[in-house]
Amino acid sequence: MERKCPYQKKCGGCQFVSVPYRDQLVKKQKWIEDLLAPFGKVKPIIGMEDPWRYRNKVHGVVASDRRGNCFTGIYEAKSHRVIRVDDCLIENETADRIMRGIAEMMRSFKMRPYNEDTGQGFLRHILIRCGHASGQVMVVLVTSTPVFPSKNNFVKALRKQYPEITTIVQNINNRSTSMVLGDRNQVLYGKGYIEDRLCGKIYRISPKSFYQINSIQTEVIYQTAMDYAGLSGRERVIDAYSGIGTIGITASDRAREVICAELNKEAVRDAIANARRNKIKNVRFVEADAGEFMVGMAAQGQEAEVVFMDPPRAGSDKKFLNALLKLKPERVVYISCNPETLARDLKHLTSGGYRVKMIQPVDQFPMTDKVEAVVSLSR
Ligand code: SAH
Repeated sequence: MERKCPYQKKCGGCQFVSVPYRDQLVKKQKWIEDLLAPFGKVKPIIGMEDPWRYRNKVHGVVASDRRGNCFTGIYEAKSHRVIRVDDCLIENETADRIMRGIAEMMRSFKMRPYNEDTGQGFLRHILIRCGHASGQVMVVLVTSTPVFPSKNNFVKALRKQYPEITTIVQNINNRSTSMVLGDRNQVLYGKGYIEDRLCGKIYRISPKSFYQINSIQTEVIYQTAMDYAGLSGRERVIDAYSGIGTIGITASDRAREVICAELNKEAVRDAIANARRNKIKNVRFVEADAGEFMVGMAAQGQEAEVVFMDPPRAGSDKKFLNALLKLKPERVVYISCNPETLARDLKHLTSGGYRVKMIQPVDQFPMTDKVEAVVSLSR
């Protein structure tokens, strides 16, 4: 089960890659227990049967060596130097293969990698997303200008070499920024998004939308979240920080009504399409800051029995948590990818009248020092 990563020292992305997988799980369990056991019972972490190649999203910075050979990789810490990575042990294999292929094709198309220091060059990043269940593949070519020389021939050659690609998108990013994606997308082939199946529902995923990168463990997390929500079909449910609507849509079969709140416009657009795609009529989507949304709900005296919350690594905020305490749902299911901000937010909620019933750690990111947890709270 153990493998050696040749990039380990320079990359640093997988802090635990040289630790046997079983021991990684022990470390993560201990970390969670140290931080969260004071709040409630911590169940044993759920690990992966095969902890490799789980990332369905792959990103490469495009660069070239002195001889002009193009390659992809990652930025060296605190510099503009790109470390070449041809194959990564936690990334989808097909995605890595296509990424290498694109870098190789660049030379014959006289396509230059973008240079951060000079601002010259064309191709900046390559982003590839694979549907774990669907097998659909999206290639996003991030370019510095909208003008794409020999675009049609490039797309044709790429599709010929990799027939598994289902859509190709050009994303234009002409700013000097560390953000990978710019605002403008131009679909070069296919629908401009991929679809994937999660917990029995179909989702469309656009280049900029958030989508959990480990599909196998995401199903475990959602299943746990649904168990903790204890839905009977009569409840009004809120899904806060809802992304493309996956949790709310999964819950919709077992609830009277679901309201999702999400800040990212593109994700909300995907979420609306996802509800329609799955013929779901009892889910609504609000494009808003989750805190603002909750404040509004509380101010209007609205009610909800269950609140799912799945904030980014920074956790939730006082605005959201205080409004949640006003809204007083019977149950809260908190899904967290950062135990530290989770502990901070649990402190707030438990001093406001909630009790932690169960904490389920899930290893969503094997080989790294990150860990996900699902927490069940009730009033
Ligand atoms: N529940 C989804 C997404 C979780 S990721 C899933 O399981 O896939 C966190 C999401 O919170 C992202 O989609 C991000 O765009 C969104 N987000 C970040 N800050 C936010 C805020 N202040 N208000 C609402 N949504 C926010």
